[in-house]
Amino acid sequence: MSKRVFNFSAGPAGLPYDVLKEAQEEFLDYNNIGASIVEISHRSKDFMAIIEGAQSKIKSLLNLGENYHVLFLQGVASSQFYMVPMNFVGKDNSVDYIDTGAWTKKAIKEAKLFTNVNVVASSSDKNYNYIPKNISLNSNSKYTYLCSNNTIFGTQYKEFPKVDNYLVGDFSSDVLSMKRDLSDFGIIFAGAQKNLGPAGVAIVIIRNDILKDLNENIPSMLSYKTHIDKSSMFNTPPVFPIYIINKVLDWIEKSGGVEAVEKNNIQKANLIYNQIDNNDIYTGVAEKDDRSNMNITFNLTTPELESKFIEEALKEDLYAIKGHRSVGGIRASVYNAMPIEGCQKLSDFMSRFAKNN
Ligand code: PMP
Repeated sequence: MSKRVFNFSAGPAGLPYDVLKEAQEEFLDYNNIGASIVEISHRSKDFMAIIEGAQSKIKSLLNLGENYHVLFLQGVASSQFYMVPMNFVGKDNSVDYIDTGAWTKKAIKEAKLFTNVNVVASSSDKNYNYIPKNISLNSNSKYTYLCSNNTIFGTQYKEFPKVDNYLVGDFSSDVLSMKRDLSDFGIIFAGAQKNLGPAGVAIVIIRNDILKDLNENIPSMLSYKTHIDKSSMFNTPPVFPIYIINKVLDWIEKSGGVEAVEKNNIQKANLIYNQIDNNDIYTGVAEKDDRSNMNITFNLTTPELESKFIEEALKEDLYAIKGHRSVGGIRASVYNAMPIEGCQKLSDFMSRFAKNN
């Protein structure tokens, strides 16, 4: 039995043990072909079953009807920062962006290359420790862009703003982690490497009715139309990440679907937030109402104590809890695959650490 830590990495992040084990077992010989899944054609019936299975499971787990297209695109989440405006708007349009941290800032920078960007709200005044609310949006803007879960700061939308246009959402760090009403979203995207599978692919979900506004004169590989027309099989898709994603989706279904996963995620996050709230030595970064159930961020009283905390945690196999380099402190990422035992162990450790220090 190989060593397995409790992995609190923000991404690439821990995947369900059963998924990794199954992939290991069938790596050399997939489905009695006598070849690995990474050695066969992406147009083989075995791989087609995987990609089509994954597309339909994503729709069903997210409760999306037949009027959505699910794409698996290389170039990952950061590519969507420019692909969205490149495909949907031009210099004559304007768009609304809500700035909730590093990842929206990057999206805003890219969008400005293509269109007029209104930054309609920002939580930069408090170093992004909250989600702006009661925002007034521009009635003539084409879409409203937000980031559902802010991986670095540990904030998460609990409710999305109401819009007259459509929402574009970066769900990289909380896709499939809680039940959501996604009906106002025209575009949903997420890099795989947190809640879905290995790095190297992003899922992009596009609602059918917004396609009427697609720009056509753009390079084929950067055009959503290309990938929609070919159902994500225009070129060789990243077969291995998609294969693992399909297994992760099976695992979510077996765990009881998104609702059951959400219940578990709330319980897991509370184990850690309770320690933050009940010990003076810890201070949570995010405002309480906007706390993320995926990335839990907090500080200790001094940087020295934080280093000691990280060092001692690692000795107990609590791995990768150092905060992002831009904010410091501690960050425990507890995506879907983190077992409750990992959160319980971190919670017990936090309690002991607070008493001893
Ligand atoms: N959006 C969010 C919310 C993220 O957390 C990240 C990566 N941590 C990205 C976008 C960028 O993802 P990628 O590295 O896949 O481009």
